[in-house]
Amino acid sequence: MNPTMEKLNSTSLIELEDKFGAHNYHPLPVVLSRGEGVFVWDVEGEKYFDFLSAYSAVNQGHCHPKITNALIEQAQTLALTSRAFYNDSLGEYEQFITNLFGFDKVLPMNTGAEAVETAIKLCRKWAYEKKGIAENQATILVCEGNFHGRTTTIVSFSSDPDSNKNFGPYAPGFQAIPYDDLKALEEALKQPNVAGFLVEPIQGEAGVYTPSEDFIREARRLCSENGVLLIADEVQTGIARTGSLLAVCGNCSCENKCERQSDTYTRPDILILGKALSGGVYPVSAVLADDEIMMVIKPGQHGSTFGGNPIAAKVAIAALEVVEEEKLIQNARKLGSIFRKEMQRIIDGSDLVLKVRGKGLLNAIVVNDTEDSPTAWNLCVALKDNGLLAKPTHGNIIRFAPPLVITEEQLFECVGIIEKTIKNFVK
Ligand SMILES: *Cc1c(COP(=O)(O)O)cnc(C)c1O
Repeated sequence: MNPTMEKLNSTSLIELEDKFGAHNYHPLPVVLSRGEGVFVWDVEGEKYFDFLSAYSAVNQGHCHPKITNALIEQAQTLALTSRAFYNDSLGEYEQFITNLFGFDKVLPMNTGAEAVETAIKLCRKWAYEKKGIAENQATILVCEGNFHGRTTTIVSFSSDPDSNKNFGPYAPGFQAIPYDDLKALEEALKQPNVAGFLVEPIQGEAGVYTPSEDFIREARRLCSENGVLLIADEVQTGIARTGSLLAVCGNCSCENKCERQSDTYTRPDILILGKALSGGVYPVSAVLADDEIMMVIKPGQHGSTFGGNPIAAKVAIAALEVVEEEKLIQNARKLGSIFRKEMQRIIDGSDLVLKVRGKGLLNAIVVNDTEDSPTAWNLCVALKDNGLLAKPTHGNIIRFAPPLVITEEQLFECVGIIEKTIKNFVK
């Protein structure tokens, strides 16, 4: 590294990014240089609680030693072979992850968007080759307010103008219905040629919209009745974030794996994972399904140069083991309900915040102002000045999603920071 680079302060580092980087993000004005557990430090040495966790990629905490060691060891041994050859890590990982989530097979990719694309391709091919829909006629139902990534196909069915305006022409084959609306789903399923229903069990990016208790379970029933694949995008909600291994596990209280017998567990036909699958140290995503679906893809029909590489395989095993070893499911569930109770207490004594919603440690508060007001942004800047990093999702909504390794004591310290910031905030 250029030795003068190290001496740059926050202001000049922000200028550097502004000058040489595309402006596709609008970051909070803080420049981070180190992370450990629930904490990150900026270049001036200030310490912050991280209440974004890289959009729930860092569920296991920053720089988790077990996960970073897996990364380092494998990087020094064998990093990438491509899938032109076998490698000695992939099979072990495939066995591990399919056992943990209870599916016949996994298809490894790198980013969340790639995994969603993979699920779409699987669903369509299944529809033509197994369900018997005429070629190029398949429709996949999606939900309004969805967020599934940034590729051209995926933004084609986004309802967020920021995501799709002037990125057309849009890919056909998708139809949006309102979220958490079983009547709308039932009606949409009556149409011919419906192949799948792609859904987030909680809409994270849209503002942590938590559907009614029976939404996913009833969606499962309706999809089964109509021979339509239920595709769960758990890129953000999965891996213990919402107080269960997967959000589709509902309130099942098993210790680490989903109990398939639980009446709250809703098994999707295709499961999409990403983000915390690597604990945030490496891009790792995965699509899980049973043979009936997965085997429609034959050699040469789909792939990725980096997908299933040995580093990703070792890192993902370590990241999933940490979830079990450190009881992150139980911690997220317990601390999540404490957090919502404390937020409600603060809300009851304040005009600035309207409500709190969420599940486990994926929560959001709704700020009492219009969606285009700068209030939520300014509140996040004030939180930063008090030592806690969070970011508005959409307009007036602030997501709170700390690493799941947070302790009860730390959580109460954070509640104190949020309370103080809200009390002292002037619009
Ligand atoms: C983040 C996210 C994605 C996209 O993941 P990338 O790794 O950014 O491509 C897809 N679906 C959901 C629900 C997400 O939260």
